Amino acid sequence: MNNILSELQNIETLAISGHIKPDGDCVGALLSMYNYIVNNYKNITVDLFLEPIPKIFCNLKNSDKIISDFTMEKEYDLFISLDCGDEDRLGGAVKYFKSAKKTINIDHHISNTNFANINHVILESSSTCEVLYDIYEEDKIDLDIATALYIGIVHDTGVFKHTNTTQKTMNIAGNLISLGVNFSKIIDETFYQKTYIQNQILGRCLLESMLVLNGKCIVSTIKRKDLEFYGANLTDLSGITDQLRVTSGIEVAVLISETNFQEYKVSMRSNNKIDVNKVAKYFGGGGHIKAAGCNMKGTTYDVINNLTKHIEAQLIDTDEYTGE
Ligand code: AMP
Ligand code: MN
Ligand code: MN
Repeated sequence: MNNILSELQNIETLAISGHIKPDGDCVGALLSMYNYIVNNYKNITVDLFLEPIPKIFCNLKNSDKIISDFTMEKEYDLFISLDCGDEDRLGGAVKYFKSAKKTINIDHHISNTNFANINHVILESSSTCEVLYDIYEEDKIDLDIATALYIGIVHDTGVFKHTNTTQKTMNIAGNLISLGVNFSKIIDETFYQKTYIQNQILGRCLLESMLVLNGKCIVSTIKRKDLEFYGANLTDLSGITDQLRVTSGIEVAVLISETNFQEYKVSMRSNNKIDVNKVAKYFGGGGHIKAAGCNMKGTTYDVINNLTKHIEAQLIDTDEYTGE
């Protein structure tokens, strides 16, 4: 038995949670673990705290057990954080983390601050779901658990396309498929399929994008009033930065979306040379070398100026960029 599972031996209450604005890896990780524990540790009471999840993940088993109201007062024997780089990104669930007798942090973000008692952070893993696959006992992974893990891997690798995809990632995905995961359906329904509104917002972001830094960086901004006009919310923006990234010739794609008056969520993707985690980290955020984010304040001009200054500094260190 590995270290993480042995921590489940003598506990009665467990809380699990993940990062704010949960994505496919976060939701997949949490629901796989919830189902694994409910199936195999009948004496543990487990509560799953997470902000409301995107509708596309609601078919996953026990997604209706997610608690998104963090007002309940309860102290847990153990708290497990999944796919979350630091305490702040636990959002409202952080209070259960702080009062728990013991804490575990399972993740793969390079920006992870090792904030728990036990930190299991595997930077080479494509996703937290890949990390969890190694933790779980293989014969206890049923179809529901496999489906949740597969979704997490698919989302964090952009369907096995990002450079975080390894032979191991593919082997795990293959093993999950052999358990009967309906991969075509899952990939279409949770990754590629967009609502009409999401397509409209994507179109708008592409139309309004601009090339800066000699065509090496593409930036698009979306204001709250635009989101309101389309009847969209921030979760409808998922995938847009990835689309901007495949513009030929660019090194970095940036999507700046307004969350409150002059407050923004910044999402960045890099192709080769730029470490966007470094840029995000400077502004208090984090993520991975090729996919990172942060929150910023000010006018959109300030935000673009500040971000591009840091991106340009890294570009100057590469061979071809002169800044002319
Ligand atoms: P996104 O652009 O929102 O898809 O995020 C890309 C990666 O950066 C994900 O792994 C996120 O967990 C991480 N990330 C995004 N925003 C932040 C933030 N404000 N602080 C730390 N990590 C972030
Ligand atoms: Mn995530
Ligand atoms: Mn992840």
